Order: sequence, then C-alpha cells, then structure tokens
Amino acid sequence: MGQAVFRNLLLNDYKGTIYPINPNYRSLMGVKCYPSVLDVPDPIDLAVVVIPAGAISGFLDQCAAKDIRGAIVISAGFKETGKEGSELEARIRDQAQASGIALMGPNCLGLINTDPAVSMNASFARCMARPGNIAFMSQSGALCTSILDYALGNNIGFSKFISFGNKADVNENDLLRYLAEDPKTQVILMYIEDLSDAQAFMYIAREITEKTPILAIKTGRTPEGATAAASHTGSLAGTDEVYDAVMSQAGVLRVETVQELFDLAMAFGNQPMPVSGKMAIVTNAGGPGIMATDATVRYGLELARFEDHTTLALKSALPATASVRNPVDVIGDARHDRYEAAIKAVLEDKNTAGVIVILTPQTMTDIEEVAKVIARVSSHRDKPVLASFMGLVDVSKGIEILRENGVPHYLFPEQAARVMKAMYDYRRWVTRQHTEERIFDVDRKSAHEILERTVRSGRRELPDVAALEVLAAYGFPVLKSALARSREDLAGLCQDIGFPLVMKIASPDILHKTDVNGVAVGISTPEEAEKTFDRMLKDARRSKPDADIWGVSIQEMALPGREVILGATRDPKFGPLIMFGLGGIFTEVLKDVTFRLAPMRELSARHMLEEIRGWRILQGFRGEEPSDLDTIQECLERLSQLVVEFPIIKELDINPLIAYPKGAVAVDARIILDI
Ligand code: ADP
Ligand code: MG
Repeated sequence: MGQAVFRNLLLNDYKGTIYPINPNYRSLMGVKCYPSVLDVPDPIDLAVVVIPAGAISGFLDQCAAKDIRGAIVISAGFKETGKEGSELEARIRDQAQASGIALMGPNCLGLINTDPAVSMNASFARCMARPGNIAFMSQSGALCTSILDYALGNNIGFSKFISFGNKADVNENDLLRYLAEDPKTQVILMYIEDLSDAQAFMYIAREITEKTPILAIKTGRTPEGATAAASHTGSLAGTDEVYDAVMSQAGVLRVETVQELFDLAMAFGNQPMPVSGKMAIVTNAGGPGIMATDATVRYGLELARFEDHTTLALKSALPATASVRNPVDVIGDARHDRYEAAIKAVLEDKNTAGVIVILTPQTMTDIEEVAKVIARVSSHRDKPVLASFMGLVDVSKGIEILRENGVPHYLFPEQAARVMKAMYDYRRWVTRQHTEERIFDVDRKSAHEILERTVRSGRRELPDVAALEVLAAYGFPVLKSALARSREDLAGLCQDIGFPLVMKIASPDILHKTDVNGVAVGISTPEEAEKTFDRMLKDARRSKPDADIWGVSIQEMALPGREVILGATRDPKFGPLIMFGLGGIFTEVLKDVTFRLAPMRELSARHMLEEIRGWRILQGFRGEEPSDLDTIQECLERLSQLVVEFPIIKELDINPLIAYPKGAVAVDARIILDI
C-alpha cells in the first residue's frame, strides 16, 4: 500500500519534494529513503502515513518533533474495527490536536490536488484525477475509487478529490471551510454517512451556499430515530427527515444517486443559473420534445411563451413544417444551421431563462457540427444551455465536443429537465429574501410553572388541558378547556364553557383519543354531557384496562376549518426539530409533513407551509378561501421559541391546529417531558 501511494506521488508530476521514510530500505523506486522523518534535512509540510495502526502514535511523536503540521493517515484498523480501534483512534486524535497537527483520516483513500502548481496524488487510487472545478469529498474511500474511474470516463475533472475516512480530526466542516476559499473550486460535492457536528454544518454550509453550490448524498435512510416515539411528531421524525431539514435550511441540494450528483455537478460547474423557471426546448424530433416538455413541467418548471419577434425569427429560419412554438421542432432533416438559428432566437427571447437542446441522430444530421454550434452559441451567454444527444454510438463524437466545451450533456432529456430544476432551486436560494429569527413577547413564567407542576408530580406527560395552557402562555390561540375529574365537576365546567361543547377522554396513556371513542363533538345539553362522561370512561377502561385515566376534558367547540399539525421533537444530535403538516386523524397515514431545526428564521417557517403537498389546499382550493398563512407561520415560530427556551420539552404535538381564513385555534395538544 505504501508503495502504491508513493508511486502515485512520484508518477503524477508532483511539484514538491518527496521523502520516502522506511528504516528497512535504502531507496524506493530509485529515491533515497530515510530511516525516520527526523533524519530528513529539510522542513516537511505533510506526512502521508501508511504504516500499521499500532505504530502511528509513535510516528506522530516524531512528526511533532519535526514540526510537521499536516498528516494524512491512510492506514485502517481504527474505529471501523470496534472498541479497541476506537480507543486507538481517540488517542491519535488527541495526540494530533495536542501537537497542532491537522490529521486527515484514518482509514481513507487519501487526497488528490489537481492544481497544476501542486499536482499531488497522495492516495492509493488507481489513477490521477483530471483537473476541473469540482471538489469532491467522501466519507467512503471505496466509493472514491469508482467515482474517480467514472469521472475519467466521462471527462469530468476535479479541483480537489478528498477521501476523509473516519474524520478523527479533520471533518467535513473543516473541508467545507477550506473548499469555500479555494479559487479552483466552483462546486462542492459530498458523500456523507453522518455529520460530525450538525449545528456547525448548518451554519457553515448556509454561508458557503451563498456563493458556492453544495451537492450532497447522505446515505443511510433509516427510520432509526423514529422508534418508540410517544407523539405524532416523534414517530414521523426519522433520522432522514432530520437530515433533509438540515440540508434545506443550509441551502445544500440533497441528491439520491451518484448519477444525479454528477448530472448536477456538470451543470453547476459550467453554466449560469436560470433566473426563472421558464425553459425553451429545441429538438429535431417530436417524441423526445414531448418527453422533455412533460419532464420540465413535472419538475415544476414551465415552457417559456415566446415573444412575437422570436416566433417571426423562427418562422423565417425554419421550414414551414417546423414547429415554431415551444418546444421548437426544427424537424428531422435539420442541419446545424437550423439549430443555430433556433437556439439563437430562443436565447435572445427575454421570456426564456434556459434552453434544453435535443438531438436524435438522423441520416442528414451533422452531429458534430451541431455540437460545435451549441458550444459556440451558448458561451458568453448568461442563460444555461443543456444538451441531450440521444443515442450512444453515432452521437459519441458530438458528445465529446460538447463536454470539451463545457456544455453539460445528458443521455436523456428528462435528466436535463431535472438539472434545470435544481439550478433554478439554487438560484432561488441565493436570491432569497433574508430574514431573521423573530422573538415574541411571551409569558414564560406561566409556562414554566405549568411544566414545573408536572415535573413535581413525577409525570412525563401533560394532559391536553395543561399543554394548551402552556401554548396559551406562548401566545397561541387556544380553545377554552377544563378537566372534569369526576361527574360532580361536570355541570359547573360545562356551564363555564358553554354548549355546544366537546368532550375528550383525558389519559396520559391514550395517544389517539379518537381510537378509543374518546372524542365527542357537539354535546348540546347537560344530560348528554353526563351520558357521554359515563360512556367515555367505560369505553376507555374497556379498551385500555391499564390506562391511568384522569377524567374527561371539556372544551369549547371550534368551527370547522382546515386541520394542520404542528409538532416538535428533540434529536439527540441536532437538537430541537419542528414539524409541520396536514393534520387531523390521518396524519400518520398521509405523512404529508416537513421538518426544520429550531431556532428557525421567519422564511424557514414560511417555506414549511409551501413545502407540503397540501400547500394548495392551504392556499384555497376550488373556490374555498385560503387559510390564514401568516397565523400558521407565526405559530410555527412561536413553537420554535418555546422548545428552544424549554429544553425539558422532549416532544410536543399540536394536532390539530384548526386554521381559518382569519386566525386559527389549537384544539388538541400533548407535551412529553424529558425527565
Ligand atoms: P385525538 O387526536 O387524540 O384523536 P383530538 O382532540 O385531536 O383527539 O380530536 C380528534 C378530532 O376531533 C380533531 O381532529 C377535530 O377534527 C375534532 N375536534 C376535536 N376537538 C374539537 C373541538 N373543540 N371543536 C371541533 N372539533 C374538534
Ligand atoms: Mg389530535
């Protein structure tokens, strides 16, 4: 292994000086060997370490003595092997940190810097990366080797190619900070399995994505965090949802596959971002044009409506059988001149934000000439042009020309449409309105007292009545409610609340009251209330014999409106997490929810509303009035403040909050404490 690394350094035109260290050899590949770093006459910047795990600690001592400030530890045999390895890793980390050595790895493939002034391949990869403007960092070393190979085959170059392994010391956040300042890097790609410091990642990435796009694959989509939760929110918040939240709050584009990662990287590294979602499609074949149109619309973009002069220009340049409307069909017998005229015309149209050019190889198609035309026409423009030459053999020369000229190419137009969408998303992120976190004037003392009371009683759960009181203290609109512990309380409480009213079983052991027939709406007389009281207790005892039943809560009746759910849960690694979605009794079935980390800014709260599938329902559907979006958004922000100010709240559900065209009201709530 050591030899492979040495060979890579030596044979890839490294611009510095290499000193092989090995006490058993006089030379390595003809280069003089030193028994130890202490014997090297010159100062050393970086140690590339490929020795057995057990020997590394001793070696780091020598590095410290020699004042070497950087080390890449390629050797395996650490955390990945179990407890002993973990301890060893912790030891070398502490050692490196104590002696001011930045240590990358262990258990990694190494690092490649393609900058011609450096040209360093300090890795055991089989090949050297081509220079380019994409930085790639990966937690998996094995994935690195395949990606390198794939990239070479597809003519994709890298600025830096980094395998960071177990990240004992240098982690993804350090690398992000470095890459953001790297003039050779235009776009950052990352493959991660976990984040070392999630909060820090969010702040760092949020800054970086203002200027440099970050595309990430996060694997391990498991719902491990969602087990044994006592609330709707807890059961819906898996690890994956947390990562989605972090990434979207940081402007990081999360992708699913390596293919998608590079599809996007090629465009982000070479093309300007579209300023709107309005696309033009130029094609020489009807079917693919329609497919591209469908995909464009499916991904949430639209087809540009051309200005009159564009249509005229197209008409005069194309034959009568051509379609001058979007998608522009230059017809199967088109040669490069028709493509040129069409692409120029649509690019000049002020309604067009980007162009997808499709080519299918017909007998008359001069493929390479078309590729050259696309390259020429699309350079020096501030609009992205993506190409799809459909095929493999005939079109290969053309594709090469496109790639050499920085025109991203995709085998199928659907991919191009998806890339356009991601570019537009990024553009919207960069140009978004910046907002701050709002702090509301709330009654913290009352909230504290209610929570304290529960803690003193030794319980973890707040009954809905108490949970709603906490919410009221934080400025949420709530319904009047009270707990009837016995039949004797009933008459008085019903009178206070007023008929018609709602009755609900009150028990910390019943998560979904409806399931045990424990919610009755529209109770309109004292007699009905009494009958319902008895019936509810009986039903609850029958279906949940072990449940601790406190009584029945009596609540004002809300007018019908749109039911949404607001929730919070606390992730051990990320901290408080806010959830929003369509509410009511089908929440878990529909899973139409979205998450954000708290504290969150005003705009994050607004985005939560817009992100769910039910957004159109909230906006008012089929002549119904829209819900009061400002109030829902404010409730989310107040919730964020509540869980940030009370770390003792472990899980919280407001389900439902009923939203109206004006205002909203919290109807059911549940708080679980971390005691
Ligand atoms: P659970 O979620 O435990 O089954 P809820 O208190 O959320 O119990 O009640 C279930 C449903 O009953 C709510 O989603 C809502 O549609 C309706 N509901 C509950 N309370 C009221 C109320 N005060 N006014 C009107 N409808 C209500
Ligand atoms: Mg409910």
